[in-house]
Amino acid sequence: MMPAMRRVSRWTIRSMAAAAMALACVLGGCGGADEPAAAPYATDAVSVTFRQETVGDRAAVRGDADFVTMSTEGRLVVYAADRARAETAIRAALDRVAEIAAALNRYDPSSELSAINAAAGGAPLEVSSTTGRAIEAARHWWQASDGAFNPLVGPLVVLWKEAARAGVEPSDEAVEAARALLDMSALDCEPLADGRYRVRLPQAGMQLDLGGLAKGWAAEEAVAAARRTEDPHSVLVMLGGDGTVWSEPGWPRKWTVAVQDPRDAGSRTVLTKIELANGSVVTSGDYYRYLEVNGRRLSHIIDPGTGRPTTGRLAGATVIHPDGGGADALATACMVLGPDEALALLARTAGADGLMLSLSGEALVRHETAGFAACEIGP
Ligand code: AMP
Ligand code: MG
Repeated sequence: MMPAMRRVSRWTIRSMAAAAMALACVLGGCGGADEPAAAPYATDAVSVTFRQETVGDRAAVRGDADFVTMSTEGRLVVYAADRARAETAIRAALDRVAEIAAALNRYDPSSELSAINAAAGGAPLEVSSTTGRAIEAARHWWQASDGAFNPLVGPLVVLWKEAARAGVEPSDEAVEAARALLDMSALDCEPLADGRYRVRLPQAGMQLDLGGLAKGWAAEEAVAAARRTEDPHSVLVMLGGDGTVWSEPGWPRKWTVAVQDPRDAGSRTVLTKIELANGSVVTSGDYYRYLEVNGRRLSHIIDPGTGRPTTGRLAGATVIHPDGGGADALATACMVLGPDEALALLARTAGADGLMLSLSGEALVRHETAGFAACEIGP
């Protein structure tokens, strides 16, 4: 789900920055005087600050950016040898996030994804390598998850959103009509010689929705953009609950990423934390985004097998994977599959680990892989 990126009003900025700061304390450690950025940022950055820090035996400049993108709070932290390097890395990462958000926003009629959806059933379109690569990644994870992750859920997402608005569940016929538009094997997405892609949705009415993968994919792309600048030491990008971290070999500190208690998201209670030097961690859950029909809270994640929200199967799914899009798509797929099949999916996916949380009454039941437990440092 990615409504148009927007500039937010001053008071919203302040409250969001405050909320992001709370999370930052968990992630990176607080303390030290902040030095504001000299020049304004061209992107949707809310605030960027720099300060000198000692990490282990290394002196470095730490740059922090809090911003809003893809209707979520973004947080970016860079360690570099000096302020100029930190700032260059931050700009590169923020520009990349903005580029991806603009290309993949299905709620913005001028985005490439909207153009592809509008042309469904018609002629193929040429799109940027950003959009083409994101669709390729989505197709890969559709295959790898045996269809539990299916980016063609767009019409079902719309159907259930309309149901929530009207307060009436959709008819079985409407659900089946939308389910007839899920055939990912028919999607045409081919790279062209110049790096662009040719994309076509073969059936009229088909709609790609990359909301299940875009934030994780964008976080990793942002880290990669930062790394392509002048040798940062270590980078973290979090877009809501979706994050990628990277550190150069020998960097003395790992990143700490918090997993929120899905029963108590309003106050951001930390359930547990994991430590990671490299890789992506994504949490999928129903606590921030959900639909309500007749007082019944329904998941915003749809089971492609039934065309219905996955309500009640899992309260949350956190997945660790070397690849950001992979972690994000797998977390969404786990929510669809429920605890046992989710663990089976992670077991057969190289590099994947995770923690699934189901509910037994009010109590959370944990289902985790050995690799997840190995990264876990507790609350
Ligand atoms: P996430 O928060 O990453 O789990 O993504 C949830 C979003 O992914 C939803 O808001 C939909 O836009 C989209 N989505 C819902 N169900 C699926 C599914 N089964 N496969 C792929 N994307 C989905
Ligand atoms: Mg996801």
